[in-house]
Amino acid sequence: LNRRLDGFGTTIFAEMSALAVRTGAINLGQGFPDTDGPEAVREAAVRALREGRGNQYPPGPGVPELRTAVTDHQHRFYGLTFDPDTEVLVTAGATEAIAATMLALLEPGDEVIAFEPYYDSYAACISMAGATRVPLTLRAPDFRPDLDALRDAVTDRTRLLLLNSPHNPTGMVLTREELTAIAELAVERDLLVVTDEVYEHLTYDDAEHIPLISLPGMRDRTVSISSAGKTFSFTGWKVGWITAAAPLIAAVRTAKQFLTYVSSGPFQYAIAEALRLPDSYFTGFREELRGKRDILADGLTAAGFEVFRPQGTYFITTDIAALGEKDALAFCRGLPERSGVVAVPNSVFYDDKEAGRSQVRFAFCKRDEVLRDAAARLLR
Ligand code: PMP
Ligand code: GLN
Repeated sequence: LNRRLDGFGTTIFAEMSALAVRTGAINLGQGFPDTDGPEAVREAAVRALREGRGNQYPPGPGVPELRTAVTDHQHRFYGLTFDPDTEVLVTAGATEAIAATMLALLEPGDEVIAFEPYYDSYAACISMAGATRVPLTLRAPDFRPDLDALRDAVTDRTRLLLLNSPHNPTGMVLTREELTAIAELAVERDLLVVTDEVYEHLTYDDAEHIPLISLPGMRDRTVSISSAGKTFSFTGWKVGWITAAAPLIAAVRTAKQFLTYVSSGPFQYAIAEALRLPDSYFTGFREELRGKRDILADGLTAAGFEVFRPQGTYFITTDIAALGEKDALAFCRGLPERSGVVAVPNSVFYDDKEAGRSQVRFAFCKRDEVLRDAAARLLR
């Protein structure tokens, strides 16, 4: 293994899901729903397969039906206008979008500022691009970004900010004020910003997802990434997309064509239909997940965890210090045997190991009865 991948080993999600399979424990670790997405969308995929749409290489940037559906979605929810021919790129999930973006935009030695805890692929992709990550630590209980620290973290070598809101694993959702401050800094220091918005439709209570690209000065310096996995509960289909100004899309496409070239042929047609589902689908899904958040948050609180109630995503971050435990990784490795539940240690998503040492993440994208069963097991 080369030095750029030194220390990345096996992802925590794979490790914990394997542990769930081995022990038969309830898997609240890796974030995937235990119920598939809408029947109509599955039928659309079957129809595409049967009718021979997408069974051979689709066009490099994605099938036109999906690119247009992406731009219509950006317009319907955010009033944003993109050209489906030059400002959209379909990818193999958000994961490929992140990798291709880092490989396309970074020079060796560049610095990338990213919140920590960070989604694990950020660190690996920054490293594969030969760049250096500069973490900005989000701290309990609110996990709000320290905007002064962000300003101080920018140097002459800073090439881009890599943001994620709604934020995995903490559930923090950036406010308009925070986004405005970030946008002003990006303009002032001439930075690109890559925003991972895969949980764009999963915000709760008063939180609202605002795409950074909609703020003044950001239209030409933001790369927005999203994915069908989380919004439509088809994480296995790996359909993602990027929206950005044409020169940025062209740059990312150059890298992307040598990673996978293309992917997910028939599924692209199905997700084009999914993106056109009525508003009621999106609000209904959000309501459903809010209910699940409350079931699991209450269960974890009853079981003695300190619970940081998320404003978005389908994850709850907890602190196990309240249970007299210190080490999240050790705790998670023993939890399946002890309690029959799998969770993920946030500590692996921090460079500042102390900051996340006793944080554990639980996914609530599961059937209500499964969440109740997990909560009951943790109570014992
Ligand atoms: N970014 C974040 C923040 C995620 O939580 C995930 C996992 N869904 C991804 C990216 C990867 O998305 P995909 O499965 O579409 O590759
Ligand atoms: N995004 C999912 C999570 O955060 C995991 C995806 C993966 O396994 N790479 O749990």
